[in-house]
Amino acid sequence: MLVTLLGTGDTTGTPTVGCGCETCQAAIDRGIERSRFSVHIENERTGESILIDLSPDFRQQFLSHEVDLPDAAIVSHIHFDHIDGLGNAYRLFDSLPVYAADEIDPQTGESIADTIREKYHYLDTVTVHDVTPFEPQEICGLEATLVPVDHPPLICFGLVIEDPQTGSRLSLSGDTSYEIPKQSRKRLQEPDLLLADGIVPASLCEYHPIGGTHTDDSGVARTFGTKHMTREGALALAADLDAAQTRIVHTAHYYPVEEAFEEPLAIDGEQYRLDENGARRVDADTPARQ
Ligand SMILES: [Zn+2]
Ligand SMILES: [Zn+2]
Ligand SMILES: [Zn+2]
Repeated sequence: MLVTLLGTGDTTGTPTVGCGCETCQAAIDRGIERSRFSVHIENERTGESILIDLSPDFRQQFLSHEVDLPDAAIVSHIHFDHIDGLGNAYRLFDSLPVYAADEIDPQTGESIADTIREKYHYLDTVTVHDVTPFEPQEICGLEATLVPVDHPPLICFGLVIEDPQTGSRLSLSGDTSYEIPKQSRKRLQEPDLLLADGIVPASLCEYHPIGGTHTDDSGVARTFGTKHMTREGALALAADLDAAQTRIVHTAHYYPVEEAFEEPLAIDGEQYRLDENGARRVDADTPARQ
């Protein structure tokens, strides 16, 4: 499978509109984008593709990167930056199946699948399919499994995408704190490539109203506030899952400029091929550092 990172930023993206910080300025100077989250996965045997999350930057993402429009989509949760791009389906698709969890969210009283059905009822081309967490679902010849993560107050799901032919595995943490349930971690284990939420470095927790949580033995916060992992949390998750390669995604412009473009922080446009030999970066001449 061919994995293209279409959107690697947090909910405001980098550069952030109206922001003159050094990180946003450096991104503009270098032509780097971290648009709102989305990942394109092509099954290269069939040419079909799945889109993970529908970014509000959908249009620009598909104009900027050479990937086909998807044959199906999966939605991790109902925050704006992961779902609002679905409106773009209007007149672009003859039909678009969208897969989402069937579990009821106590916060909304309905499942993610139901929220999408209701919110986009006017899109006749969109059909929403209920998926039960931990039950593998065949989509475009690949196997997708939703696993619950921790993104209070809403429910949110990480994902495992596996190619049954090659045995290759992509794991996505989804938007989550470090407190990912054991059973979910077990399912996310040993990916060839892990995409992990690491919104800011742990050093910035002092600026969050409730600070950092889920600290490690040396007092480093692995969660920023309650909703997202820190960079250190993302790296600790990678170690715990024994990920062969890791890219940190959903990053904010709050990263100090001297850290914002360091490895393993992802930027838009990165592309990885996952096959029998594991994952390798294919958008650049040099392979991604581990
Ligand atoms: Zn900024
Ligand atoms: Zn979110
Ligand atoms: Zn998000």
